[in-house]
Amino acid sequence: MSTQMSKPPKHPNVPFVDLGAQYRTIATEVNQAISKVIEQTDFILGREVHLFEEEFAAFCDAPYAIGVDSGTSALELALRAFDIGTGDEVITAANSFIASALGISHAGATPVLVDVDPYTYTLDVKAIERAITRRTKAIIPVHLYGHPAHMDPIRQLADQHRLVVIEDACQAHGARYQGKRVGSLGHAAAFSFYPGKNLGAYGDGGIVVTNDRKVAKRLEMLRNYGQKEKYQHLFRGYNRRLDTMQAAILRVKLKYLEKWNAARRWNANLYQKHLEGSGIVLPGEAGGAEAVWHLYVVRTERRDALKEHLAGQGIQVGVHYPVPIHLQPAYEDLGHKLGDFPVAEAYADRILSLPMYAELNSGQVERVSSAISEFLAANSAGQTEVRQIA
Ligand SMILES: *Cc1c(COP(=O)(O)O)cnc(C)c1O
Repeated sequence: MSTQMSKPPKHPNVPFVDLGAQYRTIATEVNQAISKVIEQTDFILGREVHLFEEEFAAFCDAPYAIGVDSGTSALELALRAFDIGTGDEVITAANSFIASALGISHAGATPVLVDVDPYTYTLDVKAIERAITRRTKAIIPVHLYGHPAHMDPIRQLADQHRLVVIEDACQAHGARYQGKRVGSLGHAAAFSFYPGKNLGAYGDGGIVVTNDRKVAKRLEMLRNYGQKEKYQHLFRGYNRRLDTMQAAILRVKLKYLEKWNAARRWNANLYQKHLEGSGIVLPGEAGGAEAVWHLYVVRTERRDALKEHLAGQGIQVGVHYPVPIHLQPAYEDLGHKLGDFPVAEAYADRILSLPMYAELNSGQVERVSSAISEFLAANSAGQTEVRQIA
């Protein structure tokens, strides 16, 4: 992607993510894995899918994992496996990627959005409690940006009200909460293997992880035409399988995930070191949480100007997400208005995601950090960022 600029930037660009840099470190292994699937013509629910499912379940310290075609499908099918659908309400976060809500809608249920805790960007437990009705069947905590949600109080609340907890772990492969892996903290968990995720395929993919054998069996049928044995269709299932080629690639990449997550943590620490005291609000980890830094999200009231300044220096940044789910046209029918979720709304205007990936080097982190510090020093308004909302 080249931008039309009259003068080339002084330094090479810092991309937001660099999937090519990662591929170059594992190219031989990945290419072999792909060739093997083709040579064996083992395309649909092949051996690699089953091996990957076993390995990913073990990675999450959970007994079962069922590969599907995306993270959105993982959320939808997990809900369906628990018989959650029409007439049911499912609580999730207003500040997530829209797929958290789409999974609920596609299952036939109604997403009930709530605001988030201003420190972790994850579900506010008091807000969940207020949103529970007779129709509530499940809670979907989102481990946003790779930081685990407050799972202990959420589980407690869920147990009290007999609700199912399905983790949206699409941004948090490998994160830990009180020493335990995400994916093993609820009744089930949904992961995405969209290419840019911490564990990304070379196309779409997803997986449901669960400790419930019955749910696992049902998911195996749900993703595969509702069939138990060939041509025996017990119900109207779907074609939502994880592709064997993607599974083969993911098996190679899973071996490196811990190392890559450690590199992300290293880079998060470097950002913290360089940017502390600069006037920008930095992300942190709650007690007992080990984040995997899918995104490194800072906040400033001068977000748009800073974004422009960084772009001018060849530094790619992002905003995750600029419009909260309750203000999206797709969810107009939920009847929300501006002001309903003050934290999610205030943050949508202030958040900025800095370049973050395992191969990002310390020179690049330093360059991004000094560009931010320079901007804030020249615009003292940056110092006045309010730290608490409302
Ligand atoms: C990426 C993502 C999803 C959806 O995953 P897809 O594989 O793109 O369908 C769901 N929830 C969150 C929080 C995500 O980041």
